[in-house]
Amino acid sequence: MDQVVACPRGHRYRSTVLSLESRTTCPRCDLADLICLAYGDCQVPPRGCRLLTFKSEPITDFGVLSEVLHLVGRYNRFNPTTVLSELESLFPRLSGVEIGREGSPVIYARVPYWTHQAVRWCETGMGTPLTNQHRHEIAESFLGAMKRALADELSDDGTTCRAWWD
Ligand SMILES: [Zn+2]
Repeated sequence: MDQVVACPRGHRYRSTVLSLESRTTCPRCDLADLICLAYGDCQVPPRGCRLLTFKSEPITDFGVLSEVLHLVGRYNRFNPTTVLSELESLFPRLSGVEIGREGSPVIYARVPYWTHQAVRWCETGMGTPLTNQHRHEIAESFLGAMKRALADELSDDGTTCRAWWD
């Protein structure tokens, strides 16, 4: 049975722990640890490992996105503060953002097919399908925002947009 658990940092999450003695970990802290290990060479002090190729699960909370991008830190022309300020107004219209590393920082933005897939959806049940035109506008907004955030490569495969910094 699910119950709500709080980690030592106060993040609340659902868990299927059966008793207080059962071990459980916090998904938000685990994600932060993953980012710190993947960008181990960029941490202060530097960590003993890194993952030059990895991608997170989709992030649907702007606070979590902000925390993990700041853990990546500045990387050549990649500046987490600039990326976040360019992304903030658009973020609720996406269905999630994946953070990764392809040698250097990469961000994938998922463009929703249905209104209920968007981060900002707070009703219950099914929404309505987005038109191709509407989806194209969301994709173009993301690519424009990441261009202003000085991304070196921008692409859109129709489902997911990619921004990569050299
Ligand atoms: Zn936590």
